[in-house]
Amino acid sequence: MPNTLVHLGVQGLVLRSIASDRYLAWVAVGCVLPDLPWILQRVCKRLQIPVDPFDLRVYCIVQASLFMCLLLSAGVAQLTRDRWKIFQILALSSLVHLLLDATEIKWGNGVHLLAPFSWRLVRFDLFWPESAIVSAVTLAGLVLSGWLIVKWWRVRPHDLQLRLPDAQRWMLGGGAAASYVLLPLALMSAPEQAGNHSVGAFRARWTQSNLAVEMYRAHYIVDEQGHGALWTMDDRPLEVLGLDLPSSARVSIRGVLLDGETIRVDEWHRHAPARDVATAVGLLLVSMLVLASARPRSPTDQRSSPASTRAPQPR
Ligand SMILES: [Zn+2]
Repeated sequence: MPNTLVHLGVQGLVLRSIASDRYLAWVAVGCVLPDLPWILQRVCKRLQIPVDPFDLRVYCIVQASLFMCLLLSAGVAQLTRDRWKIFQILALSSLVHLLLDATEIKWGNGVHLLAPFSWRLVRFDLFWPESAIVSAVTLAGLVLSGWLIVKWWRVRPHDLQLRLPDAQRWMLGGGAAASYVLLPLALMSAPEQAGNHSVGAFRARWTQSNLAVEMYRAHYIVDEQGHGALWTMDDRPLEVLGLDLPSSARVSIRGVLLDGETIRVDEWHRHAPARDVATAVGLLLVSMLVLASARPRSPTDQRSSPASTRAPQPR
């Protein structure tokens, strides 16, 4: 993904076509929705939850596809008063998010717009995350999201429009949520067979040799003796031929797994660390928007806003 600030800026602008300032918190939620599986993957790794790392990766690949995002959007929308509007916002936001993700060069990676019918990764390979254009849009995203937040702060009440679901909504929302969690388990083999993220090759590297692989933002760690190793998605070091960096870094590579423990690097790109900072700032902004919107409304809020008179009727 481009960093979250890029998503906030670009999606904030695009979504203005269908969502007024009152829905800004939901626009912000839509900016992170397709990345939830990747956040989940990080959490699982941080907490050292005992799950097969390859299975976890393909599970997340399935969950990050457009159709799963639509399913989650439909489920979440059942908790709101204006469910059709919120679904539209989350669905369009997910589509724009994935299209933005596809603009970046991500070896072995990409997005799924046609899954479950096709598990071919879609990517347009236009820019590296460090390119001048991504940096410019990141800066614009920061300014724009700051401006949107100030604007949104003035339009009170901030309201997520939550409501308690009735029986029909419980069924629809519960069904969508259950499918979001369980359906990937049934679909996990397809992306692996399609070569997504080189999962199949990494899984087979102990029994097969000369497997072509691509890695996106892998950890290259240099130890105290100055010896560098590439770390795989199953958290094991690989002896590296064809790449020797003076310090640890995130790198994307194309190469060949010669055996279970050695990789020959044919092409590589070193990433800048700034992206993680921009994503952290973006996630903080999104959380602030959502938390502020979820806070109980005071009588002053309700009196001070002309928007409150335009609040949609419960459906
Ligand atoms: Zn993304």
